[in-house]
Amino acid sequence: MWNFSSGPSMLPYDVIHQMSFDILDWNSTGVSVFDISHRSKYFEIIYNEAESDLRELLGLSSDYCILFMQGGGQGANAIIPMNIIGRNGINMADFIVSGYWSSKSYIEACKYGDASIVASSNYAMKIDYQDCNPYTWFPKIESIKTRACSSYLQFCSNETINGVEFVDWNGLVNSIDGNAVLVADVSSNFLTRELDINCTGVVFSCAQKNAGISGVTIFIVRKDLIGMSLNICPSVFDYKNVVNSESRYNTPPVFAIYVSGLVFKWLKSNGGIKRMESNNLEKSRMFYDFIDSTSFYTNTIHSSVRSRVNIPFFLKNDFLTDIFVEKAESSGIINIKGHRSMGGLRASMYNAMPIDGINALINYMRDFERYYG
Ligand code: PMP
Repeated sequence: MWNFSSGPSMLPYDVIHQMSFDILDWNSTGVSVFDISHRSKYFEIIYNEAESDLRELLGLSSDYCILFMQGGGQGANAIIPMNIIGRNGINMADFIVSGYWSSKSYIEACKYGDASIVASSNYAMKIDYQDCNPYTWFPKIESIKTRACSSYLQFCSNETINGVEFVDWNGLVNSIDGNAVLVADVSSNFLTRELDINCTGVVFSCAQKNAGISGVTIFIVRKDLIGMSLNICPSVFDYKNVVNSESRYNTPPVFAIYVSGLVFKWLKSNGGIKRMESNNLEKSRMFYDFIDSTSFYTNTIHSSVRSRVNIPFFLKNDFLTDIFVEKAESSGIINIKGHRSMGGLRASMYNAMPIDGINALINYMRDFERYYG
């Protein structure tokens, strides 16, 4: 089966294979990886390797620490304001809303202070994007005006549902007035291409797309932003406690961290992020080329920000969507339905999806068009 789920999604086969041994006997210790305590020397090894492999893959500067936390991507939307919204004395943060997930980030932050949308693609900008639908483009950098006392500017680097990917992070940093830091939700394009983490204050990613299974959330935090949490911040979510305890302030998701560690090793032995980036470029190019070659299928995302990993698309005749999904399954293609908020279809093609999977999907789509077109 080719699994095009947006998450939890395909894991590399080699990772699952390794897990099947470690579940019975981890590293010839006679202990299942399920039985390992977070205070044991075994977990120490798992944790340290996961942390250092990730650091190496990202080329991360020593100004940053990596935290393995819980709460998922949506938990991060609360954890971040509770930790850094007060860093300038007033609780203030700015948001760029370019789709479903960044909109949720903004709504959550409103509970912790003065959150403001400083740019949005939820309406057709009269000048630049007048023919585009909402959330099919990313606001022009020149249009973004941050507030002088804002603690951070948050955006989503890849809108998983809408299929909008924005990677000019340095451009965003340069657009900041005052001393706000950049915060990026990288949940769906983390590790899929080179991203300039070293220009940000905080990035976060839930693991269940490109970094393992659900249950762990990875934060990369610039060290000088640690230690300024609001009083209401739960102790387990306070960056200071998490850093000081090496992500073991409370019991961490041991198994999920172990799986992330396996994924990082798989990435290292498969050419690292550079190689993933060229694979993902090729896979998405094949898919967009096909969609653009026919009017039977459409993708309306502005060409400058089409996501390489989450591609929503529609059939010209929406009545055929359910039939498309049903027949796909019998052709070995699963989880191709669009998000409930969007309808239509969506192909998520993360690092673990091989080119053969894209070929299978395109062949199926071609056959479907031949029959129903
Ligand atoms: N941000 C993005 C970009 C996502 O894709 C998702 C999950 N699909 C989330 C946040 C929320 O993650 P979680 O379900 O782990 O809370």
